[in-house]
Amino acid sequence: MRTQVAIVGAGPAGLTLARLLEVAGIESVVLENRSREYVEHRIRAGVLEQGTVELLREAGVGARMDGEGIVHHGINLQFDGERHHVPLTDLSGGRSIVIYGQTEVVKDLVAARVESGLPLLFDVDGVTVETLDSERPRISFERDGTRHELECDVVAGCDGFHGVCRTSIPAGVLSTFERDYPFAWLGILAAVAPSIDELVYAHHERGFALLSLRSPDLSRYYVQCRPDEPLEDWPDERIWEELQLRTALDGWTLHEGPVLEKGITGMRSFVVEPMQHGRLFLAGDAAHIVPPTGAKGLNLAIADVHVLAEAIVDRYASGSTTGLDSYSDVCLRRVWRAEHFSWWMTTMLHRLDGEDPFDAKLQLSLLRYVTSSEAAARSLAENYVGLTTL
Ligand SMILES: Cc1cc2nc3c(=O)[nH]c(=O)nc-3n(C[C@H](O)[C@H](O)[C@H](O)COP(=O)(O)OP(=O)(O)OC[C@H]3O[C@@H](n4cnc5c(N)ncnc54)[C@H](O)[C@@H]3O)c2cc1C
Repeated sequence: MRTQVAIVGAGPAGLTLARLLEVAGIESVVLENRSREYVEHRIRAGVLEQGTVELLREAGVGARMDGEGIVHHGINLQFDGERHHVPLTDLSGGRSIVIYGQTEVVKDLVAARVESGLPLLFDVDGVTVETLDSERPRISFERDGTRHELECDVVAGCDGFHGVCRTSIPAGVLSTFERDYPFAWLGILAAVAPSIDELVYAHHERGFALLSLRSPDLSRYYVQCRPDEPLEDWPDERIWEELQLRTALDGWTLHEGPVLEKGITGMRSFVVEPMQHGRLFLAGDAAHIVPPTGAKGLNLAIADVHVLAEAIVDRYASGSTTGLDSYSDVCLRRVWRAEHFSWWMTTMLHRLDGEDPFDAKLQLSLLRYVTSSEAAARSLAENYVGLTTL
């Protein structure tokens, strides 16, 4: 088999890249090691920056998002028993965010690809990426018991943090920058109308909590927990009890409902540099991870492939490799801004085990500053909705 661009991974990065290339008339083959059912039901992110929304719309996959997505113009920060509204749109020159689940973005992209009749191969095994330094990199994979070889001009490594593309790069090429956090998020998806109009980020002495949503009937709530805690230690009643305690506010009620899904996600910051080697270009979680507090993971993945798609289009249109050569440098500027913002939100809002009282005082001082100074709030707002100047 031969194609122009081989895309490993059918998450948001791989599927969006495939769509952008399709619109530009460039061939690609997408290889995914899970089933369609699995990738369409993996509960993850749900906050889309305006830039992400505009890109999906331009790529012709925004119709359902525009119909069902919920536009938010602010978020709330809660601490010391008070809830403070941060008016994102007012503070960011009119930009906003859209609440629309990653599962829905993935479903829309898969449906568009299937409708176009273009190659999207689920359930492939044993993907290996070879001859990256040559003009004709090759991908080998197994499907239905048969080994296949796919030759291409460019390989897009969109296979997430645990994928094979990053590890195919020879030792010594990549530099890694990382930080683990001594806490995790226990997230639930609950079949109950959200008790909030906009997201609530709560700092509390018992630990952080986040009230989010996925639709008018589905709430997505999180409590900070330890990364090594077994899920069995968190029966539904305990989760609701902690959510009630950490988000309590006079005159407001958190409504409970059946828990449809729950899971614990560790928190990590991780970046590799450069995001490319030879003809292989890493995008999304394959190259970087952020703690979810800033809602940046999915948006960064889509920002990467936007840059990559433009560079590939230019390579075929003009023969110039300038865009491909600078891919990593261009992406890393946004990546590091998002890394810093995500770390900043995380360290401002979470409680550390055995926390130094000095750190706790600094957190509260920062929260008071962000909710009382327009300059500080504006900085949060422009980062949250996604910077346009990078
Ligand atoms: C449990 C969890 C919860 C999260 N919650 C949030 C959140 O609340 N907010 C937020 O902003 N972000 C969140 N994130 C981050 C966000 O979901 C990711 O940043 C986003 O999915 C990145 O998209 P991606 O396409 O780069 O990678 P992925 O979505 O990971 O997609 C990679 C794809 O590659 C496939 N793949 C892997 N290995 C291979 C292989 N060897 N061969 C072929 N295919 C392969 C995978 O099956 C997957 O479909 C969460 C992430 C996780 C893991």
